[in-house]
Amino acid sequence: MTWTEEHRKLDDLVTRFVRDEVDPHVDAWEEAGMFPAHELFPKMAELGLLGIKYPEEYGGLGLDFTYSMVMAEAFGVAACGGVPMAVGVQTDMCTPALARFGSDALKREFLAPAIAGQAVGCIGVSEPGAGSDVSAITTAARRDGDDLVIDGAKMWITNGMQADWCCLLANTGDGPAHKNKSLIMVPMDRPGISRQKIEKIGMHSSDTAQLFFDDVRVPARNVVGQEGMGFTLQMLQFQEERMYAAASCLRVLDRVIDATIDYTRERKTFGKPVLDNQVVHFRLAELRTEVEALRALTYACAGKYAEGEDVTRLASMAKLKAGRLSREVADSCLQYWGGMGFTADNIVSRAYRDTRLVSIGGGADEVMLGIIAKYEGTLPRG
Ligand SMILES: Cc1cc2nc3c(=O)[nH]c(=O)nc-3n(C[C@H](O)[C@H](O)[C@H](O)COP(=O)(O)OP(=O)(O)OC[C@H]3O[C@@H](n4cnc5c(N)ncnc54)[C@H](O)[C@@H]3O)c2cc1C
Repeated sequence: MTWTEEHRKLDDLVTRFVRDEVDPHVDAWEEAGMFPAHELFPKMAELGLLGIKYPEEYGGLGLDFTYSMVMAEAFGVAACGGVPMAVGVQTDMCTPALARFGSDALKREFLAPAIAGQAVGCIGVSEPGAGSDVSAITTAARRDGDDLVIDGAKMWITNGMQADWCCLLANTGDGPAHKNKSLIMVPMDRPGISRQKIEKIGMHSSDTAQLFFDDVRVPARNVVGQEGMGFTLQMLQFQEERMYAAASCLRVLDRVIDATIDYTRERKTFGKPVLDNQVVHFRLAELRTEVEALRALTYACAGKYAEGEDVTRLASMAKLKAGRLSREVADSCLQYWGGMGFTADNIVSRAYRDTRLVSIGGGADEVMLGIIAKYEGTLPRG
């Protein structure tokens, strides 16, 4: 991925949008435990930001995937992690499979309003009894005439309290676990759906919900792509989610390092700035190097993906590295802030809480390691 003038313009646009429309409200949204997606998304849509990589036919900008990564990185200037994550769900986590494999009718009904900011989407994969092992989900959709009738529960669903639709993974058959699932577009106003908010240690401005489906009826034509192919489509969709996650860490980590340099330059112990201790400035130099390495890996992955390559291995590596490095940067920097780092809402303590999720959500570090090991051919056979 090489940055062009057009990439830079998009970067400026998003950075200004975050400064004007997001940051002034972050403290209130963190306090409320939710940001108003139905107010923010139409403003983003006006600038084309919810459909950067999607076809113009459905209201998108028709640009390649690298532009989506520019937005993910630029959103990292936001004063919280919750809003960038929720935006990523809309643009890169619940819509890629619909855009690539959905019928024209489904795209008009669900994708176009999501791009226009009129509908908030969510992705329903994880369940109370199945997260890392996606094949073990038990939510089922049985055929009844022209309908599917859905029963089950989804857990940890970002945007779940506000969503107008859910791209839901459910078992639609009795066959092998990787061939019996479908992605189903579910309007969230259907009878039989209820929602319960989940409280978290971080990402406070993003709402997370448990969703319950009790005999929920949707037309069978709401299946994305071919029935039974849902597991595979979700694994493909995960690649964009994982690249978004990696890209959205980059500027957060840079800002945490910048703020730590500023803080430790001002803060004096034993008659000199904390920064003047070699152990401190060497550590910050090392962390910055690691962030640049993550940036190079993420760009390489995004560039190959934009050219149509399978990037499962590289995207898993980028997501793994992003999670691990976020923990390292946030923890090391928080240490150099002393007691001030342990206060509730400054840049470093918020990043410490928010970025902790990167090693868990969208596939835990260990799941990424499993995928990488599979590509290395080092997994035990059988
Ligand atoms: C704030 C938040 C937002 C989320 N948003 C969404 C969303 O919008 N949609 C959605 O579908 N899901 C969402 N998730 C769910 C997320 O993807 C899962 O939490 C994640 O996949 C891990 O699943 P689990 O929590 O069930 O952990 P488990 O599967 O119970 O695993 C627990 C831990 O065990 C370890 N582990 C697992 N497998 C292995 C292994 N093979 N080897 C070694 N160790 C292993 C890992 O450390 C893992 O963290 C979200 C989660 C959170 C916390």
